[in-house]
Amino acid sequence: MEIDKNGFYGDFGGAFIPEMLYHNVNELKENYLQIIESTDFQEEFKDLLKEYVGRPTPLYFAKRLSKKYNTNIFLKREDLNHTGAHKINNTIGQILLAKRMNKKRIIAETGAGQHGVATATVCALMGLDCIVYMGEIDIKRQAPNVARMKMLGAEVRPATSGSKTLKDATNEAIRDWIANPVDTYYLIGSVVGPHPYPDMVARFQSIISEEMKSQLQEKTGRNYPDKIIACVGGGSNAAGAFFHYLDNENVELIAVEADGLGVETGKTAATTQIGTEGIIHGSKTLLMQNSEGQITEPYSISAGLDYPGVGPLHAHLFKSGRGTFLGATDKEALAAAYQLTKLEGIIPALESAHALAALNKIDFKPNENVVVNLSGRGDKDMETYIREMENRD
Ligand SMILES: *Cc1c(COP(=O)(O)O)cnc(C)c1O
Repeated sequence: MEIDKNGFYGDFGGAFIPEMLYHNVNELKENYLQIIESTDFQEEFKDLLKEYVGRPTPLYFAKRLSKKYNTNIFLKREDLNHTGAHKINNTIGQILLAKRMNKKRIIAETGAGQHGVATATVCALMGLDCIVYMGEIDIKRQAPNVARMKMLGAEVRPATSGSKTLKDATNEAIRDWIANPVDTYYLIGSVVGPHPYPDMVARFQSIISEEMKSQLQEKTGRNYPDKIIACVGGGSNAAGAFFHYLDNENVELIAVEADGLGVETGKTAATTQIGTEGIIHGSKTLLMQNSEGQITEPYSISAGLDYPGVGPLHAHLFKSGRGTFLGATDKEALAAAYQLTKLEGIIPALESAHALAALNKIDFKPNENVVVNLSGRGDKDMETYIREMENRD
C-alpha cells in the first residue's frame, strides 16, 4: 500500500494548494525522501528518539485486561514518551528535516495544544524560532498547554476569524507560510495536509510498528499480531501503528473514531461515517461538510480527535475495506479510561480511551494477539475525568 508519486493512496491525497504555496510544497516534495533516508539523518533521528524521547516504548502485556476480554492484549506504551504522547516522534523528525533545509523559523497550528507543545518542545531543543497559531476559543479552553508553549519559548498567535478554532488557525498558518516562503518551515502534526506531509508523518510515526515487530517476535514468537487497534483523529498514531503491516493481510487494522454524543446526533467527529469526499488542508480525502462544501464543526469530548477529516491513508483504508472502522462515544471512552485505570494502573489519554472502548465491540478468540496503541497519557485530561467522577458519585 504505497503512495504514488503524486501523493495518492488510491483516490485520496495529492496536493491541492494555492499557486503561491507551490514553491514551498515542491521544495519539500523534492527533498524530503532523500534527506530522511540518509544515514546521517537516520542516525540523528534514532539517537534523539532513544536519548530524548525515551524509546523504544514498552509493548506491555496487560494481564488483567486480557483476562477480562479472554484474549491476549498488549499495550504499545506511547504514553511513556517525553511530552506524553506519540506526537513527539513526528516533531523530532520534521525539526531535523527543517534544519537540513536551512529553515530558521518554524510555524505550526494546533487545536487542543498537544501538537503545539510537541512543536515548541523540539524548537527549544534546537534553538529555533517557533510560532504557533491557535484559535482564540481554543486558547481559552486549553490554558495549561498555552502556558507550556510559552514557557518553551513559543509565540502563540490567536486566530480570530471564523469559528476561532482549528481550521481558522490552519488558515492563518498557511497565510504565514505564503508570506514567508524562504526561511519558514510549516510543521504539520498529523497524516494530513498536501503531499508530501501525510507520507512523511506516517514514515516518522512508523517507528511504532517497527518496534512492535521485534517486540512481538520476542513475546509471541511471531512478528505480527492478529489485530491492531488505534484511535483516529487525523490518523498519525494509527498510521504509525499500522505502517509495517499495511500489506500483511493476516493483521486486521482497526481504526476507532470519536462518535461524540452519537453519530445520529450530528455532535460527532466520526468522519468516515458521516463524511464525504472533498478537499481539506490541501488534500483530497473524506471530511465533514455541508451541502455547500463548507466544513462543519466536529465534536468530541477528546480534543485530539475533534477534527473534521481523516488523512488520505485512512480514507483509502476505509474505502478499500482494508481497515475496519469503529466508533466510540464520549461515554464509552470515559468508561474505558476508568476500566484501564482500575485494571492496569494506567490512566490513558481520552483519545486512547476510544481505542480501548473498541475492545467491547470486537469478538476475540482466546489465543489471539491484539495490540492497542496507547497513544498518550491522561494527565492533560484530569479535569474531564474529575468532572466525570463527581457525576458518578
Ligand atoms: C493528537 C492525539 C491523537 C490524535 O491524533 P492522530 O494524528 O490521529 O494520532 C491521539 N492521541 C493522542 C494522545 C493525541 O495527543
